[in-house]
Amino acid sequence: MSADVIVSGAGPVGLLTAALLPAGDAAHVHFPADGQGVNVGMQDAVNLAWKLVAEAKGRATPLITGGAASYDRERRPVAGSLAQNTQAQTALMTTFTPQGAAMRELMSTLLARPETNAHLAGLLSGLSVSYPAPDAGHPLDGHRVPDLHLPDGDTLLRRLRVDRFLLVDFTPAGEFDELGSPTVEVVPARPWSRLAAALVRPDGHLARAWNTADAHQIRAALTDWGAPDSTRPPGRSLLPLTKGRPPPCPSPKKRSPTSARNAWPASRPSRQTGSPTSPRS
Ligand SMILES: Cc1cc2nc3c(=O)[nH]c(=O)nc-3n(C[C@H](O)[C@H](O)[C@H](O)COP(=O)(O)OP(=O)(O)OC[C@H]3O[C@@H](n4cnc5c(N)ncnc54)[C@H](O)[C@@H]3O)c2cc1C
Repeated sequence: MSADVIVSGAGPVGLLTAALLPAGDAAHVHFPADGQGVNVGMQDAVNLAWKLVAEAKGRATPLITGGAASYDRERRPVAGSLAQNTQAQTALMTTFTPQGAAMRELMSTLLARPETNAHLAGLLSGLSVSYPAPDAGHPLDGHRVPDLHLPDGDTLLRRLRVDRFLLVDFTPAGEFDELGSPTVEVVPARPWSRLAAALVRPDGHLARAWNTADAHQIRAALTDWGAPDSTRPPGRSLLPLTKGRPPPCPSPKKRSPTSARNAWPASRPSRQTGSPTSPRS
């Protein structure tokens, strides 16, 4: 079974000028019966959607159009991991030699161990995906946030919107309330994981987390991510949107096969209830 990865992302000029932004099965070819295609495909789309919205509204910064947090840089390793682990599963399912049977027996033993089980559950569900933190800040940066219960009765993931970030304010006094804007909703929350504040991307991953923070630091992060303080004047996009016919696409680059690689980071233990990979705290 082939396991090709053909994700092609945007260059530094901007998402909307990319020749091709495939998602789902169009972006990765793999054995279908491993129960991952839908999860990975939907997460491709969710990763891409908010970046396209930011670009269309003229708020996309180089960090997300062609930098460390671009669609290509974040999702290509996930596609590679998908290709790799489905190949491993295929080998386990289709090898009927004594060696294959011994390997299945060994895997069954390992699967009974909670930590192996949790690792594979995170892998297959996609919930353990953690994007490399652009500026190596807090250890939780890049992780998916859990669906924290909020003091107002709502839960955190229900507040996500494709066109705004969440600034989760864990301080008892609500110190960061003033940082709200049309592109940033400040969400008061009960203490979690010793954080003072967390900037959550529209796709539910942590852009930045801080154990101690001040408004200046947070404003700088908001600027990096293009949240309220756009680096460009409002309404000006990297690629001006035109009515009618879209601008012609640049010639597609020759596609080269990409080797699958496993870029899964080591899982990090949670320090309080609600690990970054668990659905709820
Ligand atoms: C037998 C089988 C079992 C599977 N089991 C699982 C499972 O248990 N769990 C799991 O997560 N995944 C499973 N998968 C994989 C999962 O179905 C796919 O990963 C998922 O459907 C991919 O979604 P997608 O939107 O990327 O592509 P698709 O679901 O293929 O959607 C693409 C759509 O685009 C349409 N289209 C194509 N060309 C054009 C065109 N030129 N113009 C307009 N429309 C077009 C197609 O008709 C189709 O509706 C299985 C797949 C198979 C085949």
